[in-house]
Amino acid sequence: MDSVTEIKCCPRCGSELELKEKSYAMGSALFANRFHVNIYACPKCNHVELFAAEGELVTCPVCGTKHPAREKCAICSLNTVLDGKYGR
Ligand SMILES: [Zn+2]
Ligand SMILES: [Zn+2]
Repeated sequence: MDSVTEIKCCPRCGSELELKEKSYAMGSALFANRFHVNIYACPKCNHVELFAAEGELVTCPVCGTKHPAREKCAICSLNTVLDGKYGR
């Protein structure tokens, strides 16, 4: 029914994995470029699989630019640099 939904199967028992956490940010918040993963878990054997959440676009709340979830907004980082130099 939902053609967008990907079905991942458990490598152990072949059951359909459930998406537990979408674009979970791995690592510390101090890292500028955090690695995002989708966390899937098997409801039968509790096997957990991580999939890189690449290619997923998020909309920047500041400037509205769409950019990959795992990268910071190019427009905003550029503005930050400019503000630091020429701001105030
Ligand atoms: Zn399983
Ligand atoms: Zn932005």
